[in-house]
Amino acid sequence: MTGGPLLLRAALLADGRRVDVRVQDGLIARVDPAGTGDASGTLAVDLAGHLLLPAPAEIHAHLDKALSADAVPNPAGDLFGAVTAWLAYRPSLTREQLETSARAALDAYLGHGATAVRTHADLGEGIGLRALQAVLAVRDDAAGCTVQVTAFAATPLTGAAGAVNRALLADALAAGADAVGACPGLDPDPAGCIEICLALAARHGVPLDLHVDEWLHPDPCSLELLADAVTATGFPHGVLAGHCVSLGMMDPDQAGRIADKVARAGIAVACLPQTNLFLQGRDHERAVPRGLTALRTLRAAGVTVAAGGDNLQDPFQILGRGDPLETAALLVLAGHDTPETAYDAVSAQAREAAGLPPVTVAPGSPAELLAVRAGSLREALATATAHRLVIHDGRIVARTTVTRHDPDDHPAQIGHTA
Ligand SMILES: [Zn+2]
Repeated sequence: MTGGPLLLRAALLADGRRVDVRVQDGLIARVDPAGTGDASGTLAVDLAGHLLLPAPAEIHAHLDKALSADAVPNPAGDLFGAVTAWLAYRPSLTREQLETSARAALDAYLGHGATAVRTHADLGEGIGLRALQAVLAVRDDAAGCTVQVTAFAATPLTGAAGAVNRALLADALAAGADAVGACPGLDPDPAGCIEICLALAARHGVPLDLHVDEWLHPDPCSLELLADAVTATGFPHGVLAGHCVSLGMMDPDQAGRIADKVARAGIAVACLPQTNLFLQGRDHERAVPRGLTALRTLRAAGVTVAAGGDNLQDPFQILGRGDPLETAALLVLAGHDTPETAYDAVSAQAREAAGLPPVTVAPGSPAELLAVRAGSLREALATATAHRLVIHDGRIVARTTVTRHDPDDHPAQIGHTA
């Protein structure tokens, strides 16, 4: 990693300007026309041919499950198949294995430009607090990005059967988890589950980060219950609702009415296209629904709509590379967003949903930046080249270069004739 002041030379901004950007003490100190920046006392980095963007943030990851797809097959390919396969497998995982795969996944997100990552960590039978402790250790060691850990409670949380899971969730918060997570729609008492989560989160002064309505049918609609409960309690610490798939299947009037409640409650929504596209609609013979939430309806209501990668090569989603540009590209393809709106969802909206300060390429902004070799945002999403430079807290924390060798000019780079 590189400390000290930086001068990022000749970078292209999304608005078309070519600039030199001076970075100092974790902040953007100056933005000057290209060729006029003050390089004194800096490490100068030539970014000609690169687009310089506010860094993305990964708003919804599962670092504890990541990179397990080969070990945990899900032949059905649906949510039930994934849950069943994962619950059978996870008791065998050691704390060390969990930590190793979580570090590898975090490295992928960081290398692709995410300088903040919000991850869930499983709690429950067969895993206890092991996954949480592993992910907390990764969080505490992470020098290249900000990591937030959501304690992801097992179902049920309510009733006598939920006592063990409630105790584990409380233990996870005491151990230092940053947010309270659960799946209220899977609980026999969704409203009761939300009530328990809100009370615990309020007691610890942390946000709520729930998996909400991850199915195509409209019932139970835990999003509306959540909005009502947040408004009724005035819960002040931030609420994020991931998935909200069923909202995207409702008729526009019903979806609009619920979106208005979500906006009034100040709840942010995370659209998770990779996992939705993989898991949803497997029982449809044709015209398979895309499974994305109601992006336009939520935005029209004024809701913060972030997007995240969710599962990374695990039984819930066997592909993925831990790249917010992949998520943004899927919003363009499956959600019909513009490249600008899609990138905003994985950067500015994601940071807002995570409670992080905003980033712009302007003096005074936190220096959380991604430079990618591209001539426009559209091209960056189209090629998603690995050729990137990542800056967190004013320091270069990752640099990947891609070099293509012409076999006629550089035969030694290709191989040797035996
Ligand atoms: Zn998830």
